Amino acid sequence: MRSVTLFTVLILSAYFAHSFGVIRFGKFSISASFFFLFPMLVVFGPIITSMAAYVISLFQYTKIDLSRRIYSGSQYAISYAVAGLAIQILGVNIYGLIVAFAIFKILNFILVDLFLYFYLDRYRNFRDALKYLLLESGIFALVIPTAYVLYLNLDNNLILYFSVYTLLFPFFLTYMLSVENKSRMELEEEKVRLSKYVNELKRVLEVSELLKSNVSLVDLMMRVALIIHDDLGWEYVLVSLVRPDDSIERIAYSGITEDDFKKLQANCPTLSFVKNIMRDEFKVSNSYFIPEEADINLPDEMVYVGKYDVIDGTSWKDKDLLWIPIYDKNGKMIAYISPDKPKNGKRPSVEDITILEIFADQVRVAIENSSEFETLQEKTIRDPQTGLYNHTEFYNRIDKLVQEKEKFSLLMMDIDDFKFVNDSYGHQAGDVIIEYLAERIKLSIRRGDIAARYGGDEFTIILRGTEKMIARTIAERLRLSVAEGNPPVKVTISIGIAEYPSDSLTSNGIISVADKALYMAKMHGKNQVEISN
Ligand code: GH3
Ligand code: MG
Repeated sequence: MRSVTLFTVLILSAYFAHSFGVIRFGKFSISASFFFLFPMLVVFGPIITSMAAYVISLFQYTKIDLSRRIYSGSQYAISYAVAGLAIQILGVNIYGLIVAFAIFKILNFILVDLFLYFYLDRYRNFRDALKYLLLESGIFALVIPTAYVLYLNLDNNLILYFSVYTLLFPFFLTYMLSVENKSRMELEEEKVRLSKYVNELKRVLEVSELLKSNVSLVDLMMRVALIIHDDLGWEYVLVSLVRPDDSIERIAYSGITEDDFKKLQANCPTLSFVKNIMRDEFKVSNSYFIPEEADINLPDEMVYVGKYDVIDGTSWKDKDLLWIPIYDKNGKMIAYISPDKPKNGKRPSVEDITILEIFADQVRVAIENSSEFETLQEKTIRDPQTGLYNHTEFYNRIDKLVQEKEKFSLLMMDIDDFKFVNDSYGHQAGDVIIEYLAERIKLSIRRGDIAARYGGDEFTIILRGTEKMIARTIAERLRLSVAEGNPPVKVTISIGIAEYPSDSLTSNGIISVADKALYMAKMHGKNQVEISN
């Protein structure tokens, strides 16, 4: 009867000590159930004790994976069985208990600490693990004399209760110590967090400085990607731009190789795909966190799939996505940052996301600055009246094509009897005609073709990759659209065509051949297309 009571007291204490009394020192944790299970060895032997240890581990907090609980139960069962066997061989005396204690600690160390060390890389260094072994042994050694006293006085109620209490006492003590330790650790963590924020703010300032300098958009984005990688703790970072034609272009990266980045550049999602994923239900602050559980998968070739080790619910999962969109003044998405795999293994907090958004905002400023820059640049290459490329830019473009030996046809056109228009209807009417013709030209070319105002009433079009026979069809269509169009004053145009490289190998040569063809068109009565021969 008394042994049933003792068994009940010990096993319940062990269970509660195991499930609720986990004592933490830094990253070490001590399960205090040892205080009660080890004395159980002395009284009830190895088989009952190791079974009890196994069952307790199995029923400890059920939040942990069953497989991990089974592993934990098995290793305890083995350690207790071997230690109990040692006591049976050496007898219940101080010497036997010390050996059993040592055997238990060593087995436990091998099965748990070394296992974690080699397979999960939990300890940063081996010394930590050894320090932990010593610390734990020091605390648990209290159990040796108590177990012995308990064994010698099994019939004495008073000593029995006293022994159980001496087992509980260090447990309470260490528990209290660990509470204190915990608050100290929290303070430490707070300090680390604060210094992290200070560092992040420094990086924000650094990028602000860069924004004021003349650094290129790509360089700035690369810098931001690197900061997100180095200072904000994300393994992989991509910055993508949304182009005016709504295509997406990856523009900067960090944490991945150039080759991997090139592969990703070749595989961009479409804007509608991205927008479809950025749903309200995933919105955190102004960003989107799409958990793996949402089951929205990007095709493998569109994401960088790194190595992940998922531990529990709050951990970042393999297919989690975090996108920080960047909008312009009109609310149009112009870019987004996608960091992946946080170095601490945790899903981001709102604070983490807010910091990312600060950098995203700096990227926004950079993009806006650069598009202003682009419009400034545009002004130097375009004819202000028509918006077509100017004479200089036309030469630049044709020289470049010739340099790259890219086949093209050149159309040179001139308004017929334009002096007459000016003289009869005034210069203003003439201007309207010029603008009208420019619009016709813009409508007649494809993307990639180059249309320029060559000067006065003369225009040029470079049709890339086009043979002159096809160019003639296009020119004919343009001529007709002008002749049959409805401008305030009826005009016609004449067009001359040359082809590179068959007509000439130089840009000047091609221009003069096209010019001659144009002259021929005028000579043959205007309002017609002439092709070089
Ligand atoms: P042709 O059929 O032989 O080309 O006869 P044309 O009268 O068109 O003669 P030409 O091309 O040599 O003359 C072009 C005229 O266009 C000269 C210039 O006064 C006028 N012009 C050039 N640029 C502009 C412009 O921007 N606005 C107006 N209104 N007139 C312009
Ligand atoms: Mg003319």
